[in-house]
Amino acid sequence: MSDCALCSAAGPVQMVAVDPVGDIALCATCAAGLGGAVAPDPHWTCLQSAIWSENAAVQVAAYRLTHALRAEAWAAELLESVWLDPDLLEQAQAQPIAAPTTSAHRDSNGQALVQGDTVVLIKDLTVKGANFTAKRGTAVRGISLVADNPDQIEGRVNDQRIVILTQFVKKS
Ligand SMILES: [Zn+2]
Repeated sequence: MSDCALCSAAGPVQMVAVDPVGDIALCATCAAGLGGAVAPDPHWTCLQSAIWSENAAVQVAAYRLTHALRAEAWAAELLESVWLDPDLLEQAQAQPIAAPTTSAHRDSNGQALVQGDTVVLIKDLTVKGANFTAKRGTAVRGISLVADNPDQIEGRVNDQRIVILTQFVKKS
């Protein structure tokens, strides 16, 4: 299986436990979201179909993410219209995603970074193990926050997903 169970993105996926229902394969963005790094982003429109999945774990994951985004009009509407098996709904609601109110990730100027931001590199970075240098001034679009390390973000440079230290980027 190489497609994300929530957004159908092809590419590297990781197995993520959706307690207590089961494991699903998720892309980095969806996995980070389920881990709490969820912020309003067009990416999450994928939940509008995922929440109707026949796979219980996918449904529960989609429900939790939609619930975390309920300040968004589409998410609030979706929560009202969706029907989940009552037992499943209870499980989905029992473990809400604790959405971070303020991000701990800051750029070189101390500006808060959120999932999906575009940043610019402020110095040349040698990418270990990838044999290239990411040049100063390179824009990195659609970053993800590394959930357990506020000093790190992930982004795509030269078609490779790399980890970047927040001290070397500036929000654009
Ligand atoms: Zn995904």
